[in-house]
Amino acid sequence: MHAETLLRIDRDHLIHPVSAWRDHEEAGARILRSGKGAWLTDIHGKELLDGFSGLWCVNAGYGCQSVVEAATEQMARLPYATGYFGYASEAAIELAGRLAAKAPGNLNRIFFCQGGSDAVDSVLRFIRFFQHARGTPQKRHVIGLAKGYHGSTYAGSGLTALAAFHRDADVPLSWQHHIPSPYPYRHEGDGQDSTIIADSVAALQQKVAEVGAANVAAFFCEPVQGSGGVIVPPRGWLAAMRRACTELGILFVADEVITGFGRTGPLFACETEQVVPDMMTVAKGLTSGYAPMGAVFMSDEVYETVRDNTPPGVPIGHGMTYSAHPVSAAIGLAVLDLYEGGLLANGVAAGRHLASRLTTLSEHPFVGDVRISGMLAGIELVTDKTSRRKPDPSLGLSKKLAALGYRDGLLFRAFADDVIGLAPPLCCSIEEIDLMCDRLTRIIHEIA
Ligand code: PLP
Repeated sequence: MHAETLLRIDRDHLIHPVSAWRDHEEAGARILRSGKGAWLTDIHGKELLDGFSGLWCVNAGYGCQSVVEAATEQMARLPYATGYFGYASEAAIELAGRLAAKAPGNLNRIFFCQGGSDAVDSVLRFIRFFQHARGTPQKRHVIGLAKGYHGSTYAGSGLTALAAFHRDADVPLSWQHHIPSPYPYRHEGDGQDSTIIADSVAALQQKVAEVGAANVAAFFCEPVQGSGGVIVPPRGWLAAMRRACTELGILFVADEVITGFGRTGPLFACETEQVVPDMMTVAKGLTSGYAPMGAVFMSDEVYETVRDNTPPGVPIGHGMTYSAHPVSAAIGLAVLDLYEGGLLANGVAAGRHLASRLTTLSEHPFVGDVRISGMLAGIELVTDKTSRRKPDPSLGLSKKLAALGYRDGLLFRAFADDVIGLAPPLCCSIEEIDLMCDRLTRIIHEIA
């Protein structure tokens, strides 16, 4: 179809996720046609180096033939199998087995869904089943972080604490609460790791006391907060929060939708601090974006409590037509082969190089903070390094940055006018990381 026709139909008919509808109609879409490795090509033939892995999901890069073949084979042989009524597909069973073997601790039970949002929503429902099963149904309140992102379903968007997801949406719900995020660069105390960790633990304890320990079910967090501005907590924070949850008698839920599957180095970010959550959500890198799929990892204890307290013949009422879709599962298996066959190791090496290149940006007068965890990076811009003043929103910096990135053939994310996010595919070569950093450095020099 001709570019002009596509632009017109897009403007007239396609509603884009999390977009300013008026602005989108005015600006029009940037329409992508193909991809290979870390590179995308748009409908005008312009080549773009993808520094954001689509939406931090295409960890394996584009055009992986083994993944395409696995999907094609599954689609030709059995495109769909329900998980209802006791049926299952071979691919879904195999994937669940392989993931359970790789998962932290006793997260041996896996529920597949379609993405990160419904993984979070599923956890919220599983929490209800769990609390009813153990005879504590009043434990219904959940606590998240003030810069957390947990998807866009009705309940998940309330647990998400970003203003854009709350505006005119009547969330958070009455049982959803937030405590301050660990944010080393903007910590109001002395900024020491130990203080930041102690402050988070104290904030959680205080919130639980405020809501009443008998009423709180769970604490949710991302090991690295992604959409809140790529905020990396101090080493030890995750383990301290896990311990605090155990002491407070509440579930610890790790949302690894971004951090899972090598984004921060290991297969799961929880591994870095030997943390075993009670439940864990994943999506994105699970299929590397080749098809929609999310998953909930559930501990044996949670699973068994629900199982053992539900009478035989009574179904646990949660599931979707596309739970454990066999094509997505076949893709998940092929992608897992790639992670195990060198992709994770390549991501670790490329991440080290990314860190060494990006830290030099700290010297720029308008770069306040550079934070990196594996192949996940945030660069926080300020107009004054001493006062750490944020850029004036009227400058429209994120729009300008996105336009310059497109002009220079680099995709990255510009958050809320002051943070640039990078999440390159794990398959990137050192030369591609260099090119990405060269282009980004030029853009930052141009706007500042
Ligand atoms: N949780 C986290 C931490 C995420 O970053 C996201 C999406 O970016 C979600 C949940 C929602 O995932 P999805 O967009 O696949 O619904």
